[in-house]
Amino acid sequence: MVALVTGASRGIGKACALKLADLGYDVAVNYVRNREAAEEVAEEIRAMGRRALTIAADTSDEAAVRAMFRTAAAELSGIDVLVNNAGVVDDRYLLMLTEESLDKSLAVNIKGYFHCAQQAALKMMKKKSGMIINISSVSSVLAIPGQGVYSATKAAVNAMTATLAKELARYGIRVNGIAPGFIQTDMMEHIPAEQKEAYLSSIPMGRFGKPAEVAEAVAALLSPAFSYMTGQTLLLDGGLSL
Ligand code: NAP
Repeated sequence: MVALVTGASRGIGKACALKLADLGYDVAVNYVRNREAAEEVAEEIRAMGRRALTIAADTSDEAAVRAMFRTAAAELSGIDVLVNNAGVVDDRYLLMLTEESLDKSLAVNIKGYFHCAQQAALKMMKKKSGMIINISSVSSVLAIPGQGVYSATKAAVNAMTATLAKELARYGIRVNGIAPGFIQTDMMEHIPAEQKEAYLSSIPMGRFGKPAEVAEAVAALLSPAFSYMTGQTLLLDGGLSL
């Protein structure tokens, strides 16, 4: 079985790639800039006895995504699982928004997910089985000042998850999402300390999440426990959205 994880050089994607290897998958590790980190993830996977491939591709670039799936499917024999994870955040209040920032967020967080889902579906349809897992965010359902664009992109991901689930069910492909709350990765680095404290105090469980906890949820979605579920986005946020 083969999985492709986008944005797997760091953070949540890395944790998912390692968990998938632990479950027995060979893994294509996508990244955009951080080659060394991606190679380290691949080495860890190989040390676990699985095959691993690193592929540099900007997921917002359709041609690069096509080439990535061609390489992954050829070298690892097909694609059974796609974790659409590569995402960007650029917190700005509406009046500080620039077209460049808006375009980048839409390109990576929405277009990138569609490019990858399309290429994955083409491979999975041939086998009449597969699973696409879209990493969304609690921001898709919770208004956080400064995250208007990010929230909009993640709400689009939830809508995409539901629609693609309906389109692809007949081909044996399930599509589900995970909407994490605040997870301790590089993505949280830009948040000022006092803002972090404020976020922390609004989380009923009183702590931020760990990348490994998102990876465990990915594993759960792949398990027989969820074999009849498609089109859903699971909130994994320590109660933040309640
Ligand atoms: P992160 O630590 O910032 O890592 C981002 C990853 O995405 C890196 O592997 C990066 O590759 C890759 N990437 C960025 N732009 C890319 C592009 N255009 N094409 C291919 N790869 C690209 O992020 P994270 O916190 O793990 O977040 C992962 C996902 O979870 C995102 O979709 C994010 O929105 C979502 N999420 C995160 C949180 C959180 O609190 N951390 C909460 C909710 C949802 P390089 O290393 O090469 O730069």
